[in-house]
Amino acid sequence: MSILRVENASVYYEDFQALYDINLSVEEGEIFACIGANGAGKSTLLKTISGLLTPRRGRILFDGQPIDHMPAHERVVRGIATVPEGRRVFTSLSVHENLLVGAYRNRKGPWRTDTVYELFPLLAPLAKRQASALSGGEQQALAIGRALMANPRLILMDEVSLGLAPVVIKRIYDAFPILLANGCTILVVEQDVQHVLTVASHVACFLEGRIALQGIPSELTNDQITAAYFGV
Ligand code: ATP
Repeated sequence: MSILRVENASVYYEDFQALYDINLSVEEGEIFACIGANGAGKSTLLKTISGLLTPRRGRILFDGQPIDHMPAHERVVRGIATVPEGRRVFTSLSVHENLLVGAYRNRKGPWRTDTVYELFPLLAPLAKRQASALSGGEQQALAIGRALMANPRLILMDEVSLGLAPVVIKRIYDAFPILLANGCTILVVEQDVQHVLTVASHVACFLEGRIALQGIPSELTNDQITAAYFGV
């Protein structure tokens, strides 16, 4: 059974329709990538899955159960955690305190502060540092670590490599197999298409609120992906 199913979901910001009849299934243990140009609707999809937005039509199933009217905090308890666009770490708190905040819905699982520091060794010496003093890459590692502290079964990552140096992006992506090995499924929104396609088991390309193309990356050609991305 799919861990997440989105069925015919249409999502609005008041009168503006941002998503049209979205259908997708995320299988347990996979990396599902959402790509597409600015404004295509990728962040809106993540917000709908995490519970910040409610679909006006259609539904969201997690483990086969409809969750579209469940509040966001209850979805965290069920095992859906988010790494938001722009990291959004708590800048007035230390690195360690940021991690502890992530554990407030204490689900059982492999992720604790020590295992997060093992995953991202760069964070360990910064434990007492205020999060505002971190670089973009350190903040992204912290945002992922904070989400992991909820011991999610599904982690939603928005714009995971935006504005980061290649060496930092590599460090983030190197963590993905460890997340999978610890029972976490990954749904990632990414602008760095080439990079994400090398790790994703499924890709959905968004165009103006619709999925223009989806499938297994190795079965899609560059031309197909480019056409779906730019709508040509
Ligand atoms: P980006 O890379 O810019 O984050 P995206 O694919 O994630 O792009 P969304 O942020 O989901 O796109 O935006 C989809 C559409 O919804 C865009 O046309 C955007 O202008 C609009 N939109 C996003 N947030 C709001 C909002 N709070 N109110 C009204 N419209 C919004």
